[in-house]
Amino acid sequence: MLPFIDLKYQYSLIRDEIHAGIDRVLESGHYILGAEINELEKQLAEYAGVKHALACSSGTDALLMALMALGIGPGDAVFTTPFTFFATVETIALVGATPVFADIDEGTYNIDPAKLEEAILKVEREGKLKPKAIIPVDLFGLTADYKAIKPLADAHGLAIIEDACQAFGAVAPSGKRAPSLGTIGCTSFFPAKPLGCYGDGGAVFTDDDDLFDKMYSILVHGRSAEDRYNNVRLGLNARCDTIQAAVLLAKLKLFPGEVEMRQVVADRYRAGLKDLVSVQTIPEGCVSVYAQFCPRSPKFAEIQAALKAADVPTARYYPIPMHLLGATEYLGYKKGDMPVAEACAADIFALPMHPYLKAEDIDRICGVIADTVKK
Ligand SMILES: *Cc1c(COP(=O)(O)O)cnc(C)c1O
Repeated sequence: MLPFIDLKYQYSLIRDEIHAGIDRVLESGHYILGAEINELEKQLAEYAGVKHALACSSGTDALLMALMALGIGPGDAVFTTPFTFFATVETIALVGATPVFADIDEGTYNIDPAKLEEAILKVEREGKLKPKAIIPVDLFGLTADYKAIKPLADAHGLAIIEDACQAFGAVAPSGKRAPSLGTIGCTSFFPAKPLGCYGDGGAVFTDDDDLFDKMYSILVHGRSAEDRYNNVRLGLNARCDTIQAAVLLAKLKLFPGEVEMRQVVADRYRAGLKDLVSVQTIPEGCVSVYAQFCPRSPKFAEIQAALKAADVPTARYYPIPMHLLGATEYLGYKKGDMPVAEACAADIFALPMHPYLKAEDIDRICGVIADTVKK
């Protein structure tokens, strides 16, 4: 079976450096926080072009820390996309706030700013919930439309929490890199993400000193910067393990080259799949980090079966939109409320995607899809 994401090959390229880094941490006796974490945070902030980066335990905890630092809770509305991984929505609900969905754009699969504005106006008109924040998701590694979202956030007094869990390093048309596009940016270092560690990990990013101080406190049980025995707010244990920082420091050296290799892979897929399936639109000026390559086809099930027979694994991101999940039933949405996300969920599927995917394998995959679609 061809690997869906070839982490083993990547490991073979940096084996010595990974082992040296992990050994350094083991010998130091410092396993939580410490020098590697500080160095990682410095490099992450520099790469993203943000003043502060704070490493944490996962993308989910990054979102949670952002929501908590912004003081979001019961009675608050947080606007987001119905087409994402559940953690985006779960964290909004975990802090007691209400997720409010706005449908996606058909081309980019990201939140549609026009639908977002409608959703904000509706909540304002109804007056039951207090609009507090927007969580746009940079889906599959493509930044959302912040040029349109930012003026909406400003006009309605909303914070932007950028869910860049799939998009660390993606470039927006402004030239800025994810996760620098919101009030707070969140990313994940889960192994399968474009920049992944060897376990769970994540980070938050912000230019705002006050929000950074709050997240720094929340990271370790609401600690006080002055007195470690005085907990000044409720927090979490959301620290990043030092060993994971050593892994990420080694992987960061490969990362810029890998982003370029992902473009080559995606471009070859696009050329090979032209007129066979529909693919995500990458707007002018955007550089996607291609966390996933997810085409759409009414024949997706036949394509998946044919690829499986050819030893090519596939997946489906995401077969159920967020407003139709069991866990969100209490919000009262029904089928038909988010038609674009529902149509997308109905026929999208994911192909193997990683920087080291060989041209011959891409061509073989495209060939199987061509044979299936033309049958
Ligand atoms: C992966 C992911 C998360 C959660 O990150 P974890 O590190 O797995 O907790 C959140 N949002 C999106 C869009 C993701 O893809």
